[in-house]
Amino acid sequence: MTPLRLLINGSRGRMGQAIIGWAQTDSEVTVAAAVDAGDDFGAALAQAEAVIDFSHHTVTPAVAAACAASGKVLVVGTTGHTDAERAAIAEAATRIPVVFAPNFSIGVNTLFWLTRKAAEILGPGFDLEVVEMHHRLKKDAPSGTARRLAEILAETRGLDYGRDTRHGREGITGERTATEIGVHAIRGGDVVGDHTVIFATPGERVELTHKASSRETFAAGSIRAAKWARGRAPGLYDMEDVLGLRSLA
Ligand code: NAD
Repeated sequence: MTPLRLLINGSRGRMGQAIIGWAQTDSEVTVAAAVDAGDDFGAALAQAEAVIDFSHHTVTPAVAAACAASGKVLVVGTTGHTDAERAAIAEAATRIPVVFAPNFSIGVNTLFWLTRKAAEILGPGFDLEVVEMHHRLKKDAPSGTARRLAEILAETRGLDYGRDTRHGREGITGERTATEIGVHAIRGGDVVGDHTVIFATPGERVELTHKASSRETFAAGSIRAAKWARGRAPGLYDMEDVLGLRSLA
């Protein structure tokens, strides 16, 4: 098969640079175009079969619409989308294969799976908290990965992410309720991404932690996702689909 021709959107950013670097190590892909703010996305799109977007959340709807209109594969790594922006991604996914994941590392996707299992096993008697830390330059909070972890906890418990998450605590907060999911964002230094899910009950607690030490894991995962999506039916997929984790009991 000929190498998959990629367009990297957000190419001058930290992730864009990591993806361009990783692509050079993979003979199954080639970077046909690299686009950042101010560049001609439309002209670049004509050169590519698949777009990998790690730019800014406001950009993704237009990227998704352009990919849908021209039948390209789309991999979205950008985080921090509003509900309307997420709806635009879902709309594009009715026409093209879209892999939309807050985290492309195999380790974090294993953490997603373990979080679901732990929540099922431990049950409603355990209080749920998610803590994340990222570098000082990160623009959105909580991280997309922390949001996904909280969504998984909410799904497993029959709770609602929008209603039941509690972002940080300050002042006379009152006692913790049994149904809230605490989410806490720490920022500093050059931390690539740390996430911990805490299950706490009187007498014991379980903590599941993942720490990323390099962006290469996200870069490799996003390229793997683009290759997986090539030729696939239209749909909204995530990295658990790419890795085949959904079929694990
Ligand atoms: P960054 O700020 O270093 O890079 C973002 C790049 O996008 C910049 O070069 C910026 O100029 C560019 N950009 C802004 N507007 C644009 C436009 N209109 N068109 C094209 N490019 C545009 O950020 P980063 O650390 O590389 O992260 C980028 C995004 O990826 C963030 O949302 C971050 O949270 C997310 N991220 C996701 C994962 C994952 O595994 N899914 C991992 C790391 C980061």
